[in-house]
Amino acid sequence: MTASVIVVGAGPVGLSAALAAASLGLTPLVLEARRRDDERPGSRALFVHRATLRHLDAVSPGLGARVARDGLTWGTHRTLWAGREVHRRSFPPGEGPPPFTSLPQTALEDLLREACESSGIPVLWGEAVVRAAGRPGGALVRTASGAEHRAGHVIACDGPRSAVRAGLGVAMEGATSSAEFLVVDVDEGAVPAAPERVFHYRHPALRRNVLLVPFRGGWRIDVQCRPDEDAARLTGRIGDWLPLAVPHLRAPRVTWTSAYRFQQRVASAFTDPYGRVLLAGEAAHLLPPFGARGMNSGIADAVAAAHAVRDDAVRRYAHERRRAAHRNVTAAASALGHLLAPRLRQRVAQRTAALAAPLWPAAGRWLDAAPYGPRLRAVRY
Ligand SMILES: Cc1cc2nc3c(=O)[nH]c(=O)nc-3n(C[C@H](O)[C@H](O)[C@H](O)COP(=O)(O)OP(=O)(O)OC[C@H]3O[C@@H](n4cnc5c(N)ncnc54)[C@H](O)[C@@H]3O)c2cc1C
Repeated sequence: MTASVIVVGAGPVGLSAALAAASLGLTPLVLEARRRDDERPGSRALFVHRATLRHLDAVSPGLGARVARDGLTWGTHRTLWAGREVHRRSFPPGEGPPPFTSLPQTALEDLLREACESSGIPVLWGEAVVRAAGRPGGALVRTASGAEHRAGHVIACDGPRSAVRAGLGVAMEGATSSAEFLVVDVDEGAVPAAPERVFHYRHPALRRNVLLVPFRGGWRIDVQCRPDEDAARLTGRIGDWLPLAVPHLRAPRVTWTSAYRFQQRVASAFTDPYGRVLLAGEAAHLLPPFGARGMNSGIADAVAAAHAVRDDAVRRYAHERRRAAHRNVTAAASALGHLLAPRLRQRVAQRTAALAAPLWPAAGRWLDAAPYGPRLRAVRY
């Protein structure tokens, strides 16, 4: 069968795009550079928003519910200032999809891959795309093996170093912060009995901002390096500080470490001049993990891209999803400004809020929410 749409990349965004396309009656073909069994290490995107669970249920009935069931939803989140609690909120379990679930990106990708397989969506593994070009009436894709594929449209979900984007001559615009963050995955070997997300301003032992996020199978520890501190050196001393960061774990075993900087970059265009190639996910925008906008907004792109292909509304897709990406970048900038607090008045405001929090809960709520940036609809479709 000839594909009506070619999806480049079998990451979470590409697999979602393929499922969305198939659910709308299109015939997708996925081309992926990796081999099927290549390992993808690390937790990476953990936090799956309710809006994303709904998208997944819409493109593959039952998938969102399965993701929610396999993930972990914590009932409490807490924020501490130099070891003193300034905010705590607990959520009773509710009806319907949970507000979020936390599971490693690799586990989500496995579920997406299974859903593609049971929908009969063909995926060609080990098939790296070198170029995709639109032209009147369709698009042509060339792969490193010399194969050529033709289709009505291409949805490029080939990640941050997108060869498709580069081939179209589309630039990434925006900034990357110089401040480094270190991510450490720790395998506890068991599901935490009472999982909770904890954010520490000035962790009393580490004297840095530290975020602790549970997921099914372990914990993720996100440490904000001090200005001019080298994340690699902090990683080298992990044995000294890790037990202080997670004193509640008896035998933490490090399974993955990674350093990152806040990326706030958006492609200068989300489509080619013919409206035949659509960019989605990290091929189109780079966002930091805080706020969990990267993968969640990428899956919203994927669903929107499939609708745009079916409805012949690519220009609108390009305009709306680019605007959403810019809103996410603005939110990420606000989160970063709060985390770094470079100005004296920001530091004074935070310290004052920490002092006022026991008497004025709104101050604690602000300290709890601000590291993630404002809540937005931009991650949704
Ligand atoms: C440390 C870290 C923590 C993160 N935490 C979060 C988080 O908490 N929440 C969140 O929402 N996001 C988070 N992210 C971001 C998240 O991982 C990305 O947003 C997500 O992976 C993007 O998905 P994607 O499908 O667009 O790209 P990718 O996951 O990069 O997938 C791209 C796919 O395309 C394939 N490919 C590449 N080039 C080609 C080619 N030429 N031809 C064919 N195939 C190709 C790749 O092999 C890959 O399979 C985090 C990222 C990192 C690094």
